[in-house]
This record gives sequence, structure tokens and C-alpha cells, in this order.
Amino acid sequence: DAQQAKLSLTVLIAAPRGFCAGVDRAIEIVERALERYGAPVYVRHEIVHNRYVVDGLRAKGAIFVEELDEVPDDAPVVFSAHGVPKTVPAEAERREMIYVDATCPLVSKVHRQAERQIEKGQHIIFIGHEGHPEVIGTMGQVPAGRMTLVETVEDVADLPFGPQDDLSFLTQTTLSVDDTAQIVDALKQRFPHIVAPKAEDICYATSNRQAAVKEIAPAADLVLVIGAPNSSNSVRLVEVSERCGTDARLIQRASDIDPAWLDGVGTLGLTAGASAPERLVREVVDQLAQWRSIEERKIRTAEEKMVFKLPRQLVD
Ligand code: SF4
Repeated sequence: DAQQAKLSLTVLIAAPRGFCAGVDRAIEIVERALERYGAPVYVRHEIVHNRYVVDGLRAKGAIFVEELDEVPDDAPVVFSAHGVPKTVPAEAERREMIYVDATCPLVSKVHRQAERQIEKGQHIIFIGHEGHPEVIGTMGQVPAGRMTLVETVEDVADLPFGPQDDLSFLTQTTLSVDDTAQIVDALKQRFPHIVAPKAEDICYATSNRQAAVKEIAPAADLVLVIGAPNSSNSVRLVEVSERCGTDARLIQRASDIDPAWLDGVGTLGLTAGASAPERLVREVVDQLAQWRSIEERKIRTAEEKMVFKLPRQLVD
């Protein structure tokens, strides 16, 4: 029968995977804002980088825009989990808007540290990916010209500073742990006095998801990462797998999988970026089960218990 004719496939499911505490909180903020203020609630930028999440909230009455000037003065607006430059809440204040900031507390922590470093008179080297909203938001915490972005070890060599300059560095929260370590080494070599952040800026969710992929990728013939192409932490998971020598593909939904990818694959690794809901992981497993006789194995490398408080204005 058809069932018996199916080839077998072992699916190694990484844990932790998927939603982090900052994404959970950001989605709940939009849902609560919709309850409290009624639809429509505007959201500046995709609340988290996932189309499924965004479409779900849009169906409940959220309107997604890229800039604040697209929001009427009298409509409530939520700022995305990635954070915003200081000019954005300042403009909302000036226009006397109701706004809720869904910036992840771990991103806000980097923002506050940037302010403190500037107060101390340091110039900040920021390690991040140009154009990502978190980078735009963090660079927008300090006066223009006080923070310089580096993306690679090569960028460090080009920095127009000397070893005596008063420098510090910070990083985006969703970077590759390994690449960042190399860039930090290069910074410390060129600028021995550079001041490091108090604690690692790469967040627990990013590093846990990368560590889990390092565990499954060597045992897999192919890794599927559920996430969006503009999701920094998801794209990093693909890279981590490839560096372990295992091909990886970024998919948004089960329908993105080409069954030909499974040719010759006996063991498949599966994970999801921090903005991808568990619902999509199940969808992928169900799709795989239509083609193969699958055995699921969960590989857990860390426990996560992080939960962030909601903004006070949505709690009382
Ligand atoms: Fe916060 Fe990290 Fe999640 Fe980004 S990936 S929202 S920094 S917990």
C-alpha cells in the first residue's frame, strides 16, 4: 500500500526554536492594543519579521505601515520589536499620539547602553547589518556621527580611528555568535582599550537557536529553517548549518518545500527563527509526513524560561 511504499525520513527538530520572549511580547502588545483601543491599530514596520504573524494581526484589524507619517494623529500606533530611532517616539509625542513601544527589552538594553557610552564621551563601533531596522533604531539613539557601523572583519581594518581614541562597541542582538567573536577580536587587536558591553548583546534566543542548529546539522543531510528572508536571526541559522557542512534552506511555509530537495536525504534537520510560530513547524512536519514515513526526534540543547513584562499602559 501507499503508506508502506514511502521512504523513511528522520526529522531532527531543534529545541529551542521559534518564538522568543521578545516576539511573544510584541505580538501580545498588538493584540492587547486592539482590545483596548479597538481596530484599527497601526503598527510601524512588521511587528516581527514573519508574514504569517503579520497577516494574522492584519485580519484582526492591525494596519502595517513603514513610517509614522502614514498614521493619522488620532490612531494608536505600536512600534515593532526591532526598536526605533529616538526621533520616532519624539514625533509621536509632538503629535500627541497614543503609542505603544513593543521594542524587545533586550534591544532597549542595548539602546540604554549606547546612551551611557556617549555620556562617557566614547565613540561607539556598532557591529550589525546595514539597513536592518534594529540597526537603524540603535544608531538612532545617539547623535549623528557618534556611532560607526561595521559588518565584517575587513570593515574593522578600514576604521578611521587610532589606538588612543576613546572607543566602545555594541552589537545587534541577532548576529552570528561566531562571526561576531571574530569581529570583536579584530577590534580588540586594533584598539586594545576599546570598552566592551557589560554583557553580551547577542540575545539568549539568538545564541540558543544557533547552538541547537550546531547540534543537529552535523547529523543531518539537509536542514530546513523556517523564517523570513528579512529575519536576521533566521538567516544566521542557515549560515550556521552551512558552516557545519550541511546544506540548509530558508523557507517561509511548508508550500515552499520542493519534494526534490528530499532526494537522497535520510535525516533532515528542522528549526525555526525567533519570529516563526510553532504552527508553521507543525505544518512542515505534516507536509513531510505526506511524502515520507517520518520519525520525529526532538534535540534539546537548552531550556528557555524568559518572559518579559508588558508595557504598563496595556496591563492596568
Ligand atoms: Fe528580543 Fe532576541 Fe527575540 Fe530579538 S530575537 S526579540 S532581541 S529575544
